[in-house]
Amino acid sequence: MLLAWFDAHARDLPWRRTRDPYAIWVSEIMLQQTRVAAVIEHYARFMGRFPTLASLALASEDEVLAMWSGLGYYRRARMLHRAAQKVHAELGGVMPRTAEGLRDLPGIGAYTSAAVASIAFGEAAAAVDGNVERVLMRIQGWDETNAPAARLREAAVEFLDTARPGDYNQAMMELGATICLPRGPLCLQCPVQPLCATRGEHVIGERKKMQSKSVSYAFARRRGRVLLSQRPKDASLMPGMWELPPLDAGAAPEGLRVLEVKHAITVTNYTVGIYDLSEAGDMALPGDASATRWFAVSALHEVALTGLARKVLRKLGAFPKQHADLKTSVTDTDQFMGAR
Ligand code: SF4
Repeated sequence: MLLAWFDAHARDLPWRRTRDPYAIWVSEIMLQQTRVAAVIEHYARFMGRFPTLASLALASEDEVLAMWSGLGYYRRARMLHRAAQKVHAELGGVMPRTAEGLRDLPGIGAYTSAAVASIAFGEAAAAVDGNVERVLMRIQGWDETNAPAARLREAAVEFLDTARPGDYNQAMMELGATICLPRGPLCLQCPVQPLCATRGEHVIGERKKMQSKSVSYAFARRRGRVLLSQRPKDASLMPGMWELPPLDAGAAPEGLRVLEVKHAITVTNYTVGIYDLSEAGDMALPGDASATRWFAVSALHEVALTGLARKVLRKLGAFPKQHADLKTSVTDTDQFMGAR
């Protein structure tokens, strides 16, 4: 009954129209921790630039990060790139066909390996992510106290449709994403409701408490170029990527505030103030000279920008127009303060 529901209700998503293992792999990496709507936009752009595994393997890391810009969690892009290089250089460009073989590649864990092996190669491997865990727990009537990972995996393997494992895995993910929702499961529309022990009585998981922080950045545009600052190579978040030069709280001149952006990363809601220092002297520009550089606005789509930098530059009209339409994967409610 789950597969009949999936056949009738599956969303038409670009990566469901292909059997190309590389294309399916890219989609699975992008979908980790990212909403489908955000992935759709970036997936088309990424696949347009890197249509084959070889084209990705032969690209520079900067090019890959630039194409990933706006999706967040950049470690995924780096691992995907490294894995493509490994397949290209060591495996003759042919991806492993089993979940076990795929797990030897950088950035591919139990979930992604099972998803790719089942969808692309038809291997009977159960893919269990947070969505699938939630569905299984509700169907079985389990909660956090009696559903260790091993028990959930056993249930996933037991339920797996071995004739159509790829469709089954996608159906479970689809059910978790569209019907068996974390806070308000739509049990009346659920295809497995007759089998379900809880039917929505059991709502799992409290939302993580969000923290609030304020940060400030400088925006400086001169003669068609903008000043950017590179994050330290050993930063835990987005190492080596380019952003607007950060300003210390006390160094932000209130009269020059041109934009306020709300930006959410994992469990923190940032209020981001942007200060226009275009007319300020060189001495007033923040950032260590060795870490800052002027970039031509016309070439910014080639730069490995953080999602926030990309969003701000777009809003301030400092991003190439033909590349300015992609949204970042974060929510935002931004307020202009009289931008240039
Ligand atoms: S009946 Fe409700 S709780 Fe059970 S699997 Fe379906 S949507 Fe989830």
